[in-house]
Amino acid sequence: MVNYGIDIWGGNNFFIEDGKLKVNYGNQPALIEIVEEIEEKGFKGPILLRFPHIIRKQVNSLYSNFRKAIKEFDYKGKFHAVFPLKVNQFPTFLQPLMKIAKRFNYGLEAGSKAELILAMAYNDKNAPITINGFKDKDMIRLAFIAGFMGFDVTVTIEGLNELHSIIEVKKEYNQLPINIGIRIKLHTSGVGVWAKSGGIESKFGLNSSEIIEAVEILKQEGILERFKMIHFHIGSQINNISPVKKALREAGNIYADLRKMGAKRLTAIDIGGGLAVEYSQWEEKRDRNYSIEEFSNDVVYLLREISEKKGVPMPDIYTESGRFIAAPSTILIAPVIELFSHEYTENRLRLKKVNPDLVEELLYLYRNINRNNYIEYFHDALDYFESILTLFDLGYVDLLDRSNSEILVNLIIKKAINFATLHGFKNRELKSINEKIQEKYLANFSIFQTLPDFWGLGQRFPIMPITKLNQPPNRSATIWDITCDSDGEIPFDKNYPLYLHDVDLEEENYYLGIFLIGAYQEILGMKHNLFSYTNEAIVGFDAEGNYRIESIEATQKIREILIDLDYDIDEVERLLKKNLEETTLPDEEKKELLGELFLLLNDMVYLKE
Ligand SMILES: *Cc1c(COP(=O)(O)O)cnc(C)c1O
Repeated sequence: MVNYGIDIWGGNNFFIEDGKLKVNYGNQPALIEIVEEIEEKGFKGPILLRFPHIIRKQVNSLYSNFRKAIKEFDYKGKFHAVFPLKVNQFPTFLQPLMKIAKRFNYGLEAGSKAELILAMAYNDKNAPITINGFKDKDMIRLAFIAGFMGFDVTVTIEGLNELHSIIEVKKEYNQLPINIGIRIKLHTSGVGVWAKSGGIESKFGLNSSEIIEAVEILKQEGILERFKMIHFHIGSQINNISPVKKALREAGNIYADLRKMGAKRLTAIDIGGGLAVEYSQWEEKRDRNYSIEEFSNDVVYLLREISEKKGVPMPDIYTESGRFIAAPSTILIAPVIELFSHEYTENRLRLKKVNPDLVEELLYLYRNINRNNYIEYFHDALDYFESILTLFDLGYVDLLDRSNSEILVNLIIKKAINFATLHGFKNRELKSINEKIQEKYLANFSIFQTLPDFWGLGQRFPIMPITKLNQPPNRSATIWDITCDSDGEIPFDKNYPLYLHDVDLEEENYYLGIFLIGAYQEILGMKHNLFSYTNEAIVGFDAEGNYRIESIEATQKIREILIDLDYDIDEVERLLKKNLEETTLPDEEKKELLGELFLLLNDMVYLKE
């Protein structure tokens, strides 16, 4: 049976049993069971599910792989990690993460003042804080305050001007309670759609002569002993291990030479993030060519090799991988609300007493199509339909004829696809036609809110139904979201074919799961069309392994999103009332409509069914 590539992208977090997608943890609940429980509590529409046990698994995997490599290669430096806040700053993600982080001394990376405030509030005192990105003096003052609080803070400078700012702020406080890191501009750049952070053209970092100058300034100021770390980040979602290795060689040699130039307290290399996530549902389209094990082995091995060759101590290793930690923990369940071919039913035919010949022909094909003739009949149907459309343009058949033909052709296609399914889609031509004539699945979510990287960068995320997995999906699927933007669509692509089930939504619910969306998507998500964040639930497991819904956060109401946009809601309400008052409706009716209107203003932004 089709498994939607779950063995490629699923990381063993989910499995299929009895036709249902289940969580591979604790009492192994089916996702549909969780969804139904949430719906019974009155939360309709799309639901974001967050699984803290998967966050824990990822953090654990990062630490255990590096620790294993350190042991295996008898590496003398230590391993530390920080979570880059820009990947997911939402409290429903961060709070579970910080609970998990304690045991590992897992810290936070901040790239802005607001993120730094979060780090200063939530980071464990024993865990490191690293600060990257462009900084003004206020940001440096915040870093100093974090240092005064007792945090182990490293401020990584992106340019010499930031070093001067640090020196000035130091004068204000007469102390230097922070470590200094230098972001180095590497020759190496990453690959793929996110590869803009590394390389000589990179927006960030100091080039060789600036690094040397920085060290001279640090010496002059007598603060060289606070220079602790060099840092690089060659880009996100690095799908190939070789640029990582190149960057490590480059950075390793810079580290060794700086040590030789007298930077004796330089003890750490921060290798940034970039650890890739396997998003692919298709074996031949894999998103990365390495595993976390290979990644950690390469990092540790290479840094050891360079250190030994140059006769310097092996540096402590810091990583800032975010996507790898956050992506798998979060999924969206989007209810399908319509299948467009289901508009074409036999009872919608409005046949005339005398129909044009071509319509009669279609009717014949529809009634007589069978498992032996379906390919031929299918071709004939498409031909006839083409002719009918031409005749319509020329005025020889009318709208009623055209409507009847549309319905008949769609019914014939459906029958043909069903016969083809019985034959395992052996006929290549019919397969290719199925690829051309897709079912449109209207799903209750917004691509702009939930999958901004699909909209902006064409990044694909795994999508699959969470039920009916013991039946063959036979419709090539185009997914439409509920925005009225034509970009709000995941079109069928025969290079990335997605097939879904033919379902009668009158009879049963059908939900699509959209996976690996815990990194970047939520904060990048746009309120296009005024669809904002969805309902959201944290799903945990108790000591017995029984799942429980730990919290549910409702999606925004219409009035809330208007307030969010800085509308004066009182004014909006006043205007609505005025527009109703001005009508000539009887007072009684006005009152009733006004009541209804105000109730609807408190409705959720997504569709209810
Ligand atoms: C974005 C960013 C990261 C995180 O990268 P991932 O690809 O999510 O692991 C780490 N470090 C820096 C400096 C970044 O800008």
